[in-house]
Amino acid sequence: MTVTQAPGAGRVRRWAVVGAGMAGLTCARALYDAGQAVVVFDKARGPGGRVSTRRTPDGAFDHGAQVMVARHAPFQQQLADWAAAGLVAPWAPRPGPPAAGDASAAPGGWVGVPRMSAVTRALSVGLEARWGTRVASLGGRAGAWRLTSDVGVDLGHFDGVLVAVPAPQAAPLLAAVPALRSRAAGVIMQPCWTALVHLPAGWVSPWDAAQPAAGPLAWIARQASRPGRGPAPGWVLQATPGWSEAHLEATPASVAAALVATFRAQTGAPAPRWAVAHRWRYASVAADPHRLQCPPAAGGGPAPGEDAAAAWDRAAQIGVCGDWLLGPTVEDAWRSGRALAAAVLAGLNAG
Ligand SMILES: Cc1cc2nc3c(=O)[nH]c(=O)nc-3n(C[C@H](O)[C@H](O)[C@H](O)COP(=O)(O)OP(=O)(O)OC[C@H]3O[C@@H](n4cnc5c(N)ncnc54)[C@H](O)[C@@H]3O)c2cc1C
Repeated sequence: MTVTQAPGAGRVRRWAVVGAGMAGLTCARALYDAGQAVVVFDKARGPGGRVSTRRTPDGAFDHGAQVMVARHAPFQQQLADWAAAGLVAPWAPRPGPPAAGDASAAPGGWVGVPRMSAVTRALSVGLEARWGTRVASLGGRAGAWRLTSDVGVDLGHFDGVLVAVPAPQAAPLLAAVPALRSRAAGVIMQPCWTALVHLPAGWVSPWDAAQPAAGPLAWIARQASRPGRGPAPGWVLQATPGWSEAHLEATPASVAAALVATFRAQTGAPAPRWAVAHRWRYASVAADPHRLQCPPAAGGGPAPGEDAAAAWDRAAQIGVCGDWLLGPTVEDAWRSGRALAAAVLAGLNAG
């Protein structure tokens, strides 16, 4: 990879970004575009993190983030740019059946096209990345950090390290910077069991999405109603944080069966051809006792200052970003990743 230095970006340094979700990729992209040398690590097989799509022979399922909503002007502009590039499109689902309750509250937003993962894939283009690599520890010192994988592989030396993983996974990586470690260790993240359901063809649904008023389901979405998808009769069901926590160690088969039973009772859907469950152990920062704030409640809370959006220890050359620093949404992750890149580049310009 040839790295050229952007005017005003200071000298080129070599950065490790741990985590290739929206926050890590946004940060990595900004540093790379400013001429810095960046290597991205992720334990998964590809980019996206919780902005994710599962492909199956029976169609694709957006089984992580459902919609992107902008509450701040910079992300509104980013969504407009992605829309112009054909990476996102608006989705306005018809609200769900009264039996599911809360029928009017099936909000839409922007979704990736043709899959939710389109945006994170685009952000990763051109970046040097090591997939399937779980970073287990950071050793060394500022300007000479060494990363080691969970199987003991030396992952190389870096001037600085930018940790972009959920708070409980960030804390053990931040032992060298106690203030950052305790900030991450103090954050509680809640799980979300998600079921991917393939119905027989032919069941016609006059609605596309619902946020049931009571658990165990918090969200139901018809995949074919999302822009640019095929006609495959796939549905995504998400459980409430409370139910997910209570069933955290249940088998995927038993979770899928329980969520499908509720889905069928609330909607009249036929028995599926198949259903599988995926556990998001760290789905979102604890916010609402009943449901994930996805998409965020109208109006949201007061926006934290941008200085809270990321944490950067310039002396140690270690930083942290991720949705959990701001809230439970894709926008929060994007803002956090952008803020960390800005802090890093400001430090370089300051000499
Ligand atoms: C089921 C569900 C529904 C959601 N719905 C919505 C929604 O509708 N709207 C919305 O705005 N938000 C929603 N969200 C939240 C949204 O997905 C997140 O806020 C956002 O994607 C977080 O991005 P991130 O980069 O901070 O973290 P992540 O996406 O979690 O990225 C972190 C990455 O780090 C990797 N990683 C972790 N530890 C290591 C390690 N040690 N070494 C290497 N790699 C590591 C992980 O594999 C992952 O790829 C939802 C989330 C879930 C789970």
